[in-house]
Amino acid sequence: MSEARARRVGIMGGTFDPIHYGHLVAAEEAREAFRLDKIIFVPAGTPPHKVERQVTPARHRYLMTLLAIMGNPGFEASRVDLDRGRVTYTVDTLQDLRKGLPDTDMYFITGADAILEILSWKAPKEVLSLAEFIAVTRPGYGLDQLATALGPLYEPFQDRIHILEMPPMGISSTDLRRRLAEGRSIRYLLPEAVATYIQREGLYGTNDQGHLP
Ligand code: ATP
Ligand code: MG
Repeated sequence: MSEARARRVGIMGGTFDPIHYGHLVAAEEAREAFRLDKIIFVPAGTPPHKVERQVTPARHRYLMTLLAIMGNPGFEASRVDLDRGRVTYTVDTLQDLRKGLPDTDMYFITGADAILEILSWKAPKEVLSLAEFIAVTRPGYGLDQLATALGPLYEPFQDRIHILEMPPMGISSTDLRRRLAEGRSIRYLLPEAVATYIQREGLYGTNDQGHLP
């Protein structure tokens, strides 16, 4: 009898404002390359007053995430960060998810830009102990700063950080928000169901134009 292996679950965190094909391809590539049993998408909570910009209300970002992942039996969404009601750090997310996922190896999936932020943020040592990291390549961002950014943590934890090349997708939520505000096309950059939802709810200024281009 072969020994049962621990379940392997990928965690895809993000603001998902809105979710797009860059997120979905990153998750799917990680699922396949690391033979993950499933991927949990975790939309970030809405900060009380984020300085740079107003984040779209959580219920919209959560519903867009559900619309984007439907049809992939390997994808799920979690509300842990949305329901916390205070500023969320990756360490909180992983601790909360761990409670519902005993005997599971967790893999936190991030783009090349986000891994540096997360690991230079709060409790990097704890974060790296709770989950292994899959850093996917992203056009415009390099991973050569990783060792420097992690400093003394790099050596002991480097085996828990994996770099995954994915088909380069020059898509960002920032660019999508800009396109929508300018009345430009977003077709083929995110799932059609998400585009329809954006239009129906008049998100990102789409109600100002009356229709989605
Ligand atoms: P914004 O422009 O608002 O920051 P975003 O497109 O970066 O949005 P996020 O929700 O910030 O999307 O990202 C969630 C995660 O997905 C991050 O780890 C980010 O690096 C990764 N990611 C987003 N877009 C891509 C992409 N095109 N290729 C690879 N990874 C991506
Ligand atoms: Mg981002």
